[in-house]
Amino acid sequence: MSNNPAFTESQKQYLSGLTFGADVARAVKGLPVLAGSASGGTSLSVGGGGATVDGKTVPYGPEKIALDAQAAAISAGKKLCKEELAKQAKNPLDMWDEIIARSDEGKFPKGNDVFLTKFHGLFHVAPAQDSFMMRLRIPGGMSHAWQLAGMADLADRSAGGYLDVTTRANLQFREIPADQAAAMLYGIRELDVISLGSGGDNIRNCTASCLSGIDPDELIETIPLAKKMHHYILNHREMYGLPRKFNIAFDGGGRIASLEDTNDIGFRAVRIEPADSSEDLPTGVYFQLTLGGITGHQDFARDTGVLLRPEECIQVAGSIVRVFVKHGDRTDRKKARLKYVLDDWGFDKFIDAVEKDHGKPLRRVDAARVTVVSHEDRMAHVGFHEQRQKGRFYVGVVLPVGRMTSNQARALAEIAGEYGNGEIRWTVWQNLILPGIRERDVEEVQAAILACGLDYRASSFRAGLVACTGSAGCKYAGADTKANAMTLAKALESQFEIDVPINIHLTGCHHSCAQHYIGDIGLIACQVEQGDDMVDGYHVMVGGGWGGRQGIGRPLLKSVVFDDLPALIINLIDGYLAERQVDEPFVAF
Ligand code: SF4
Repeated sequence: MSNNPAFTESQKQYLSGLTFGADVARAVKGLPVLAGSASGGTSLSVGGGGATVDGKTVPYGPEKIALDAQAAAISAGKKLCKEELAKQAKNPLDMWDEIIARSDEGKFPKGNDVFLTKFHGLFHVAPAQDSFMMRLRIPGGMSHAWQLAGMADLADRSAGGYLDVTTRANLQFREIPADQAAAMLYGIRELDVISLGSGGDNIRNCTASCLSGIDPDELIETIPLAKKMHHYILNHREMYGLPRKFNIAFDGGGRIASLEDTNDIGFRAVRIEPADSSEDLPTGVYFQLTLGGITGHQDFARDTGVLLRPEECIQVAGSIVRVFVKHGDRTDRKKARLKYVLDDWGFDKFIDAVEKDHGKPLRRVDAARVTVVSHEDRMAHVGFHEQRQKGRFYVGVVLPVGRMTSNQARALAEIAGEYGNGEIRWTVWQNLILPGIRERDVEEVQAAILACGLDYRASSFRAGLVACTGSAGCKYAGADTKANAMTLAKALESQFEIDVPINIHLTGCHHSCAQHYIGDIGLIACQVEQGDDMVDGYHVMVGGGWGGRQGIGRPLLKSVVFDDLPALIINLIDGYLAERQVDEPFVAF
């Protein structure tokens, strides 16, 4: 397997350390893989009373953090929020036995335990569905065929028979009965996947550029960095003591954006060209450190002026998280994200604190010396494209609003194993990429994708359609976002065949899981009064973007009944097509 020329050097290295070749072979032949896939790649050591970082003992774990936070809140005349008190009363990391016992009794958690159980990736989503949703951690969004085949089996056995791809290049199972929670926790671990820290106040799935290693244009591979970050988190107990959730992304400067500017920490690959280099800043690839992205609060990650070598990123991220752990707001959930520490302190004070934790100064470089490259192609996540490796192609498969049935998942695993290099890469655009396809196999892969009811082609609308779970599975939702997204795409496709991508993001509530503020058209759900009834509706925003077209969507209309929305958006696009200048993108309109 690791001699396959479609693999990049780093992938070969990774694979040579593992022993799952037999499992891959079994998986791609459609045989069950849940038992015996013991590659043992995931380790976790968050038990005990502290953590060791760079040989120094870090004298704080979640319990001490909570106590310190309480003391600070009291001395400031404030009270800890109820979630902090719940974490203090019971360390969520120590709930394994309790969760298993509750599952054996066929019961869902109650009260504070609903929140605390999310630390293990299990969300009781009643009243939308009286079941668990389970979110995984798939660093860099990379899975293997044998894992996907196993997850499809697991979805059939213990969940709803389907899998959802999230906007963090991750997977979620839904409709898990109370008595199947333990089976899910055991099942994913058998597949070398974990869910710890994928919910609650934790660092969520670490993302990277999904074409890492195969992109002809990228500056650097980023999936290996996302994997290292993931393992750093798992093995440092203090990474589990946050005031609120936290996102980290790496972008390698290639064709498909990782949306690093929407993360709390965004590492963006840039170049120092010979003309801008010096003895202490040699020519090469670095990462710009950007901080404080949270588009639901209408803010992108901003450049700190710090430039890092790739090998410095993980330790610096650890220091950033530790400063946030110590100084984040634990009294007001709405002000508990990193952005608010940065707003309060300013970058200089914050970076000083990071340097203190890191034990050495960080490299600050004038932005004028940094070359930011952009190779983004907004349709590169869909269809067949040649890889950096000559004669090899990847295909971006479209998933209708991120969902695939377990049969489709098994079929994709088979295609990846038979025609690709055995990898499946999930994207932040809620679809997937199968790399390593030989040119001679392209037609067969096209037929195999169509045969399982999926497609590798997409209209300009469907390629950029992003929808959160919505009211079919999330109690916070104001509307059925996934169903509405499909209706909307159909209506637009019946009217237009356009030559520019137009992203439409439908999000169910202010939590902004589908990032409505960065869509060309952003929709946030609400309930609208219609006669005696309340019906699905949306507030409409336009002009959002990311990366080089970065912008927060501007409010256009409030409380539009969903039934009226397709006609309204058709009018909007009609107007754009009639009035646009040559090459004028929708975002500028
Ligand atoms: Fe649920 Fe709101 Fe997230 Fe949609 S945006 S999945 S409604 S929390």
